[in-house]
Amino acid sequence: MIQRKVIVIGGGLAGLTASAYLAKNNYKATLIESSPKLGGRTYSFLDKETNTVLDNGQHILMGCYFETLNFLSLIQAKENFYFQKRLEVNFVKEGFRVVPLKSLPVIYPLNLLLGVLRYKAINFSDRLSLIKVFLKVPFYSSNKLSGMNIKEWLENENQSKNVQDAFWRILAIGALNTSFKKASAKIFVDIIRQIFLTGKKAATIILPKFGLTESFCRDAEEYIINNGGEILFSETALKLVIKDDRITEVHTSNRVYTDFDFIITAIPAFALSRVLDEKYQIKIPEFNYSTILNIHLWLKENSFPKGFFGLINSPLHWVFNKGTHLNIVISDAEELASKSDEDLILMVKSEVQKFFLLNPDIISNYKIIKEKRATFIPSNYILDKRPQQKTKIKNLILAGDWVDTGLPSTIESAVKSGRVAADLILNMK
Ligand SMILES: Cc1cc2nc3c(=O)[nH]c(=O)nc-3n(C[C@H](O)[C@H](O)[C@H](O)COP(=O)(O)OP(=O)(O)OC[C@H]3O[C@@H](n4cnc5c(N)ncnc54)[C@H](O)[C@@H]3O)c2cc1C
Repeated sequence: MIQRKVIVIGGGLAGLTASAYLAKNNYKATLIESSPKLGGRTYSFLDKETNTVLDNGQHILMGCYFETLNFLSLIQAKENFYFQKRLEVNFVKEGFRVVPLKSLPVIYPLNLLLGVLRYKAINFSDRLSLIKVFLKVPFYSSNKLSGMNIKEWLENENQSKNVQDAFWRILAIGALNTSFKKASAKIFVDIIRQIFLTGKKAATIILPKFGLTESFCRDAEEYIINNGGEILFSETALKLVIKDDRITEVHTSNRVYTDFDFIITAIPAFALSRVLDEKYQIKIPEFNYSTILNIHLWLKENSFPKGFFGLINSPLHWVFNKGTHLNIVISDAEELASKSDEDLILMVKSEVQKFFLLNPDIISNYKIIKEKRATFIPSNYILDKRPQQKTKIKNLILAGDWVDTGLPSTIESAVKSGRVAADLILNMK
C-alpha cells in the first residue's frame, strides 16, 4: 500500500498531536517548525545564570483534559505529570490565612458540592448561592448565554461581590485568562460543565513534574520519529500555493514541497493569514489576545510552604513552589506587562509579604517572562467566527487552539484540534 504523506506546519501541541496520531496510523508525517524547538507556547529552557530549567509559564492541566490525557498515553508521557487524587487547592488571604477548597471522599458529585459547602473563604449564604448556580449549570440554554458576558451572567444569578472575588474570578481568570466583562458566559459555563460534571476526577489538577519541554515534547518527538515521521526545525512555511481547490506547493524558508497528499496547518491564526492568500476565502478571524506574566523568584533559603496557592484579591494569581524557586503567575496582565521590571518586582515583593509574610530581603534573584499573545480572548463575538477544521481546499485541514473546538485557548483545545485534524485525514479515502 502506498504510504500517504502529510505535511504538518507548526510544532506546538496541536502539530505534535496531529503528527503523533498520523504516525500511529502509518501515515508519513513531516512536521515543519519555524523555531529551533518544539512546544510552541508550552516550552521550557535552561536559564544559564541560575542553572534552572524555567517554563515560559506554569501550565495547569485538569482531569477533564480527556484529549490531552489520551495523547499523553499515546506518547507514553503520563509519568511526567503529578495527578491529584481529589481536587485540593489552597487559597490564601492576606496575613497567610489559608482557605482550602477540597472535594470530600464521598460519592461524586456530592464530593464537590460538599467541598464547596465547606469553602470558608466565603460566608455560608454565599456558599449556598454558589451551590444553587452549580445545580442549574446542566440546564442553562446556550443561546441565552452566548448573548452575555460572565459579569452579566453572575449578576443575573445574584452572585455577591465576595463570591465573585473568592471563587468565580479565580476560576475564570485561570481558565480564560481574561476579565469577566470580556469573556463569553457560554464558554465559561461549558468549562464549568466539563470541570464539575464529567466525572469524579474531572476537577482534579495535573501538573508537569519537569520542565514543559521535557514533560510534553521529548516523548512526542521520540514517538513521531520512532513511528516513521520526521521533524524539521528552523524551517518556516512562507506560502501555500493553491490550484483547483488543492494545495499543490508548500514554499518554506528552505525549499518547495510538491510531494504530499495533505497539509495540516497548526500555527496561530495571525501566522496562518501570512501564508494563506485571502483570495482562497478561508476566513481567518482577527483575535484579540491576553498576556500572561510569569515571575520566577529565587530565595536565599526556600522556606516557602510546599505546593501551590491561589491568592484571593491580589494582582498575583498563583504561586507555585518549584523547589528551586517560586513561579508566580499573573493572568490577564496587559496593564502590568507595560510596567518596568523594577516596578513589577516591587509590587511582587509587597504582595508576597502581605499574603505569605515573606521577608522580601530573602529574595535573591528574579526573572520575568511576558507572554503577550498567550491566549486569545474568548468573547462572544469571536467564538462564532472560529473556523471549522475542514476547509474548502480539499487537502487542507486547520488545527491550533483557536479553531472551532468549543474549548478556550488551552492545551486541551490544541490537542483536540490536532487529534481531529488527523482523524479527518485518516477518514478521507
Ligand atoms: C504563559 C502561558 C501559560 C499558559 N497556561 C496554560 C495552562 O495553564 N493550561 C492550558 O491548558 N493552557 C495554557 N496556555 C495556553 C497553551 O499554551 C496554548 O493554548 C497551546 O500551547 C497552543 O498550542 P498550539 O499548538 O495551538 O499553538 P502554538 O503553541 O502557538 O504552536 C504553534 C507553532 O507553530 C510555529 N509556527 C508559527 N508559524 C509558523 C510557520 N509559518 N512555519 C512553521 N512553523 C510555524 C510556532 O513556532 C509554534 O511552535 C498558556 C499559554 C501561555 C503562553
